[in-house]
Amino acid sequence: MTPEGPAAERRYEPVIGLEIHVQLRTRTKMFCGCALSFGEEPNTRTCPICLGHPGTLPAVNAEAVHFGLMIALALECDLAERSVFHRKNYFYPDLPKGYQISQYDVPLARNGVLGDVRIHRVHLEEDAAKLVHAGSSGRLHGAEASVVDFNRGGTPLVEIVTEPDIRSAAEAAEWGRLLRATLRATGVSDVNMEEGSLRVDANVSIRPAGESTYGTKAELKNMNSFRFLERGIEAELARQEAIVRDGAEVEQETLHFDPQTGALTPLRSKEYAHDYRYFPEPDLVPVAPTEEMVSRARGALPELPAARAGRLEADRGLPPETARLLAFRAELGDYYEAALAADGDVDPRALASWVTNDLQARLGDGEDPARSSVEPAALARLVAMVGERRISQSAAKEVLDVLAAEGGDPEAIASERSLEMAGGDEIAQVVERALEQNADAVEQVRAGNQKAIGAIVGAVMRETKGRADGGEVQRLIRERIEA
Ligand code: ADP
Ligand code: ZN
Ligand code: MG
Repeated sequence: MTPEGPAAERRYEPVIGLEIHVQLRTRTKMFCGCALSFGEEPNTRTCPICLGHPGTLPAVNAEAVHFGLMIALALECDLAERSVFHRKNYFYPDLPKGYQISQYDVPLARNGVLGDVRIHRVHLEEDAAKLVHAGSSGRLHGAEASVVDFNRGGTPLVEIVTEPDIRSAAEAAEWGRLLRATLRATGVSDVNMEEGSLRVDANVSIRPAGESTYGTKAELKNMNSFRFLERGIEAELARQEAIVRDGAEVEQETLHFDPQTGALTPLRSKEYAHDYRYFPEPDLVPVAPTEEMVSRARGALPELPAARAGRLEADRGLPPETARLLAFRAELGDYYEAALAADGDVDPRALASWVTNDLQARLGDGEDPARSSVEPAALARLVAMVGERRISQSAAKEVLDVLAAEGGDPEAIASERSLEMAGGDEIAQVVERALEQNADAVEQVRAGNQKAIGAIVGAVMRETKGRADGGEVQRLIRERIEA
């Protein structure tokens, strides 16, 4: 087929799988007693074991196994009865032993699922140290130098590998956020992408729509936000499509995405792929979780975001997107449920919309609503007042502005500022005046132009400064015109 033929119009389907490294928030490192490091002086959290001195023996951190089991159970995996540690051999200055202790053919867990994406495997390993490129300031014998900080070396990691079930860049980011929310709920990690406690690699390929086999994938390394992950995948999909439309083939390689420039630069190609010469770690026994360990891990899991979203949808009648928003951002969900508990009269759907739209818009980016001056009970009361038609939507937004600025009681604020709905008598008088002043519009409505009623309603709303209920005003106007 020529490029001008059907191939030019052919649609390509993205196929994406993610590999995620999660730094565990244990007290000590994976195989030694060193405390984890949070920005301490370089090389102050080290010992002969994590520095890889000959003759030292690693011992598995029980807390890391516990956290690993929690993650595996949160992802509904099958647990291995005896998972095995292997040595993954390669030479790099950040790896003093010359190998990383990881898991290979028998990982801690397999065959899980989160949302719409299957989990291929979950395994335990140790983090490498950190190379700091000191540049010319670190010149050594005239050359630019790099130095190593071994504090991070040996930090416990869980690696999560998905099946290639994701079909768009946006879905990858959305699923990544679900995973992060799930991990955050378990409390086993800080899950901070900027600080590297959550690191995401994306495997990306395309195939002609309808095809069942996969194309050759490229791997995007270490995206440090889900926004960048989405943009990186978009860029890579575009690059691959251009290659294929040119009649060429995608090569298997590892790429770096620069979010500043949007450029994709190759890190290594298949020809230079590592042969890690995995072999069983002779110094460690397999991890064989007892029933007691498994039930302790299960018992330590809170309600997870996917379950919470389902519950909010089913029990509160929330639209799926709203339920997900509240469940994926636990602080919003907690606020919502506190508000719901505080006022029995509030409509759960209306309240959810106020929390996710109006309240969120008045918070700083990512700010915890619990820290705002809007008490959950106050927001619930305000939304209930709207439901009881004691205040209009627009007046309620004014009250929310005041609550967000200085806190307080919505009833008091509404009455101090005369924002409550006008009473029936007052509205009737205003409607009467509006009919007199808009005689033209009245004529048009009588002549069958229903849209003309808008001008009269508008006049009433202006006069009452929005303290009237639009629907009710329309009803009154119609009643008077048709009388
Ligand atoms: P490798 O042996 O190259 O590491 P794996 O089969 O272990 O490849 O898969 C690694 C990751 O790549 C997984 O997340 C998997 O879902 C994903 N993956 C595998 N094949 C493809 C493909 N053709 N397109 C996109 N992602 C893929
Ligand atoms: Zn150590
Ligand atoms: Mg692999």
